[in-house]
Amino acid sequence: MEILLARESGFCFGVRRAVKIAYEAKEKWGQVYTYGELIHNRQFVEKLEKDGIKAVGSPEELPPGAVVIIRSHGISPQEEKILRSRFKVIDATCPYVKKSQKIAAKEVRSGKELVIFGDRNHPEIRGILGYTQGAGLVISSPQETSSLTTSPRRAVISQTTNDLEDYKRFVGGLLENTERLTVHQTICSSTIEKHRSAKEIASKVELMLIIGGKHSSNTRKLFKACRRIQPNTYHIETPEELDLIEWRKYERIGLSAGASTPDFIIKAVMEKLKEEGND
Ligand code: SF4
Repeated sequence: MEILLARESGFCFGVRRAVKIAYEAKEKWGQVYTYGELIHNRQFVEKLEKDGIKAVGSPEELPPGAVVIIRSHGISPQEEKILRSRFKVIDATCPYVKKSQKIAAKEVRSGKELVIFGDRNHPEIRGILGYTQGAGLVISSPQETSSLTTSPRRAVISQTTNDLEDYKRFVGGLLENTERLTVHQTICSSTIEKHRSAKEIASKVELMLIIGGKHSSNTRKLFKACRRIQPNTYHIETPEELDLIEWRKYERIGLSAGASTPDFIIKAVMEKLKEEGND
């Protein structure tokens, strides 16, 4: 059995950076808190909590004067102001997300209608919306662009973790009903490289496995992008879930993992495939 691991698998630049910032803060301040889970991965969040880095869902859960870390997804300026007025804040927002926040604020100030291609409930998008004074219009699929009325001036940005091909289709849809469209390429280079390398592997194997949290938006997008290339693609969260798939009958298996999947889970899946695949 041959196992092919995509070049860019697992933690992206922004997640590695946020984890490093969190551990440095822990070294310096003792117990620290993250505003929301640092990454969408249950196993890693549990490990962080054991190490003294605890996730909270609201300012009310924080003790007075706590040290709180803004995770890579970023937050709205309104929420940041509340946190800064009561706690010591360490900002680990990914620089790519910061770029999207700035573009969103600038385009709304310039009077354009801002369209955001993304998931309304994702923290990155909720944060960006805060920079638009509520004026950003979030649309989650290329098909939905056809329901928009014609606009003289629009600008468009994408959630950083969308698939580039999907974004091209989305922009194509907007061109149908926009007189002057300003397109910003806000998908981060980590995502582009991750999707490119995973799709390349998916085209060469009989079975493709995408490893990552079931509620991780970026992992689900990676899974969908690979499934378009190789319909025999599965999304698993742990090595144990391999038992639900008839993987032993394949000679070539491909692997990739979402931006929030820790290395120890990728390694555990690879070891199980290697050990049990040669039984
Ligand atoms: S996926 Fe991209 S934008 Fe999001 S945290 Fe990672 S590097 Fe930053």
